[in-house]
This record gives sequence, C-alpha cells and structure tokens, in this order.
Amino acid sequence: MNNKFLTIHRQEAGYRPIHDRIHDFGEVEQTLNSKDRRTQASRCMDCGVPFCHWACPLGNKPPEWNDALSKGDYETAYRLLNDTNDFPEFTGRICPALCEKACVLNLMSHEPTTNRENEAAITEMAFQENLVHVVQPVRNGRRVAVIGAGPAGLVAANRLNRMGYAVTVFERCENAGGLLRYGIPNFKLNKAIIDRRLHLLYEEGIDFRYGEDIDLTSLPEGYDAYVVSTGTPTARDLPVPGRELRGVHFALDMLSQQNRILAGTDFKKDELVNARDKDVLVIGGGDTGSDCIGTAHRQGCRSVTQIEIMPKPPVGPDDPHNPWPNYPRTFKTTSSHEEGCTRRWNVNTLEFIGKDGRLTGVKVQEIKWKPNPDGGRPIMEPAGKPEVIKCELALLAMGFVKPEMPQFADNVFTAGDAATGASLVVRAMAGGRKAAADIDNYLNATNK
Ligand code: FAD
Repeated sequence: MNNKFLTIHRQEAGYRPIHDRIHDFGEVEQTLNSKDRRTQASRCMDCGVPFCHWACPLGNKPPEWNDALSKGDYETAYRLLNDTNDFPEFTGRICPALCEKACVLNLMSHEPTTNRENEAAITEMAFQENLVHVVQPVRNGRRVAVIGAGPAGLVAANRLNRMGYAVTVFERCENAGGLLRYGIPNFKLNKAIIDRRLHLLYEEGIDFRYGEDIDLTSLPEGYDAYVVSTGTPTARDLPVPGRELRGVHFALDMLSQQNRILAGTDFKKDELVNARDKDVLVIGGGDTGSDCIGTAHRQGCRSVTQIEIMPKPPVGPDDPHNPWPNYPRTFKTTSSHEEGCTRRWNVNTLEFIGKDGRLTGVKVQEIKWKPNPDGGRPIMEPAGKPEVIKCELALLAMGFVKPEMPQFADNVFTAGDAATGASLVVRAMAGGRKAAADIDNYLNATNK
C-alpha cells in the first residue's frame, strides 16, 4: 500500500479567477503542472478494497491508472483508463466523480484522490503524445443502427464498430454529442473536445447521418439490431398562471441556443433567449439551473436568483440537518454559484406575473416540509406570505420527463437517459457499453 497520502494533501487545480472567466465561455477549470499532477496521483493508497471501482458506473480502476500516472507512464495509464472508459476526456471534465465520494481517503479524511482531474490529465497527455490511435476494425458483415448521438449512443457506436459491426448513427440535430454539445455550457466542456473524438470515430468508419429525426415506432430498415439512445427530450414544465408570458423559458432554450451561437449559428433578435441587463430567476436547484446561472453571468445579466422547492441539501451524509434519511443530494457550490447568485430553498412558485405580455416578476411562497404520518412523501405546507421576485427572465430547470418507449422488437436495445431517465454522462456511457455488449451477445446467440 502507498502511504504518500499521509504527508501529501489533496490539491485541486481550481478555477480561473472570476474576474477573468466571467467575460468568456472558455473552460473555467485550470490544470496542474505535470509534476504536481503526478504527486496527486501518488496519493492514491491502492487500498485493499477499492470502493472506487464499485462506485463508478463504468467500473473505472483509479488505483491502477493512478499508479501508472504517478510514475509518468502515460501510455499505460491511458490504456488502463480507456479499457473501461471510451471517452475519458468527457468524464474527466464533467463527471461528479462518484469514485471520489467512495474513495477510502474521502471516508478517512475528506481528501479523496483527485481522480477526475487525473483522468483528464492522462487523456490530454495521451492525445498530445499521439497515444490515441485510429483502429480499423475487421468487418463481420452485420449492421447496427444507433438512434441518438449523445454520450450513450456514441459509446455504443464506438464499441460496436470496434467489434466489427457496420454502424450507422442517426441524429436529429446538426451535429453529435447530445447534451454534451447542446446542453452543457462551453465553460464546463469545450466543444473542440467532442469534435476531436468525433474525427476519430469518422476515421474509424462510423457513418453519421445528421438531421435525421427517427420515428421510434418505425425504425430504419436493413439493420440486424438497434440502439435507441434518444435521451430525455421533454423538460418538466410548470403549469401555473402566466406560464405563457414572454420571458418564461425552459433552461435548455437558453443553454442550447448559447452553445449554438458559440458554434457560429445566427438567431433572429426576437428568437434570442438572453439575460443581458435582466434580473434572472432560475427555478430549480440542480446542475441545469447552475449552468443557467453561469450562462446568464456571461451574457451580462443584472442579477440571478435561484430557487428550489426542496430543502437545502445537507453538507454531507452526517449533517445533523439532513431532513430525511438518505436525502439524495448533498450541498454543492459550483463555479457558477461562486460567480454570484442568491440561492433560496423551500420556495414554491405560484404565478408568473407580467405586463403587456412580458414577464415582470414571479410570485413565490416559502414552504416547509412535514413528515408524512403514513410514511409516504413529506407533506408541503405554506410557511410564509406570497412575495414577488422581480425578474424579466425566468428559466425552468426542473428536470426532464422519462420518455415512454414504444413496444420494441427483440433486436432493439435502449441506453442512456432514454432507458434510465435523466441521469449523468458516466451512467449514459455505461449504458452505451452495456447495450453494445448485449447486442453482440444477442446476435451471436441468435446467429443473425
Ligand atoms: P442525450 O445526451 O440527451 O443525447 C440524446 C441524443 O438523441 C440527442 O443528440 C438527441 O438530439 C438525439 N435524439 C433524440 N430523439 C431522436 C430521434 N427521434 N431521432 C434521432 N435522434 C434523436 N451530466 C454529468 O455527468 N455532468 C454534468 O455536468 C452534467 N451537466 C448537465 C447539464 C445540463 C444542462 C443537462 C441538461 C444535463 C447535464 N448532465 C450532466 C446530464 C447528461 O448530460 C446526460 O445524462 C447525458 O447527456 C445523457 O446522455 P444520452 O446519450 O442518454 O442522451
């Protein structure tokens, strides 16, 4: 066992200073120099029972690649990392790093190994040193269609292609990446990182068809099997009075438009969802809401407030203020929150208020949650007087509805958010790997 963790503390690369990053959409996260990065990798204690393997949906093996990284052996580190993770350059940037939560050093000292940053560093070095190679698979004569080119579909396509299947990806947008490209802001994930990977997939022979909105009840003909990885396209709405006012939008209306603008797409002035010189209210306290905050800052908003109907999450599982056993989230301050935002919890939205068809404010009310005597969902009760939060732009960031899937034939496999409901990139990628393995087993077993 490595004992460097006894003397070396966790060091994160941190974010660019706020005054610098707030004026552009470049990635906010910085990088350590390679010496400090290797030192951080050497903190991994290679414990006897590595919970990180188990916690990662992909089964990533941080002790193995941290060891190689600590010795400066990037080739081995990348090979080990890539064995379980097709695209570590994505998760290295935006994964909530479930492996770090499960790291024994986290349980011991709240200073887990910097696995996510180490993963990004290994991958960037691998690209820089030309260690990421194009593979030309031997074809097996069978064809698979992938519907939806988000992380789940891209991983499934990559794996099936490498197994020798001729893979066609049908994507309704003008480019691939799904929410990586049209949801997650550039300040978390630079889109050049997606393009770099896509070029490899093109070179390896995957056929991408863009602008193809596939009807899931009548899949394209001529394929031996299908992966349906169409995500969760329907955002949860808030049907309260005034919802139709101009200035009330879904979060993705703003986020996807901003990403498209940065990619060079022009929008008419009256189509723009822009926060410039506006007071902005974000409804929903999760990651999507947080991404709206960072985007509103960069667009030049006057102020941002974020409200959440649920209680303030506990700081950790041991927090005595944890409202319920096993509350699903812990308190998180993102780079966007650091940039300035009023955050409120236990706030319910009653009505959108406007003048001449335009939003001028949102009527809200503080609430409290009471335990349900029947043991069911806690009961919501008003706890304050209704009040109006002045705003000219309200963004609905309250999650996504799990899609209803048609009854599929035996050779159709679902993956990613479409299968699980809205989740994480790492889970979508794990779903893509599973769908690819299931298709291979199915086609081999049925001799198709
Ligand atoms: P998607 O990424 O949604 O991709 C589905 C693809 O299918 C899309 O390209 C879509 O256009 C296409 N499609 C849909 N219907 C059809 C059709 N009929 N025909 C053809 N194509 C179709 N997760 C993290 O781990 N970290 C984060 O920081 C993070 N931030 C997020 C921020 C935002 C704003 C949002 C909305 C989500 C975030 N997530 C994050 C969640 C993560 O992006 C998703 O869990 C993940 O992208 C799901 O991948 P997927 O491939 O299943 O679906």
